[in-house]
Amino acid sequence: MTDMSRDEWEALCDGCGKCCMLKLEDDATHRVHYTNIACRLFDDETCKCGNYALRQQLVATCVVLTPENIERNAHWMPSTCAYRLLEEGNTLPNWHPLITGNPNSVQKSGNSMHGKTLAEYEVNEEDLEVHIIEGLL
Ligand code: SF4
Ligand code: SF4
Repeated sequence: MTDMSRDEWEALCDGCGKCCMLKLEDDATHRVHYTNIACRLFDDETCKCGNYALRQQLVATCVVLTPENIERNAHWMPSTCAYRLLEEGNTLPNWHPLITGNPNSVQKSGNSMHGKTLAEYEVNEEDLEVHIIEGLL
């Protein structure tokens, strides 16, 4: 992946939006749990970051994935994430837009967070655990 151009790297993202969900880490096991609560910059209509260019300045905890840091971040990415799959030596799923040629194939396959999220401001911080969704990791 280190040989990829910036455009090739960006094209790997299928736009599922899963990585933009708030996560909880178990103190004892360090296991990461995904919730259906979206980062405050996430746009549920487009399933994209509301300010991709400035994401790290606006959300300090946002991790900007690069070919150089994917190795240490792959473990907490969703199991369907193209970056994680390639980092772990796997192939892209058959619904990935680079395979189908159609960006809508992500939603059609049920892998998009489009229309499935809650906004941070809608949820009480103490209730985060109630919103854990299994099966993303
Ligand atoms: S989980 Fe991976 S493929 Fe999905 S939006 Fe995030 S970076 Fe892109
Ligand atoms: S800042 Fe943007 S890219 Fe980063 S987690 Fe939030 S919505 Fe996703």
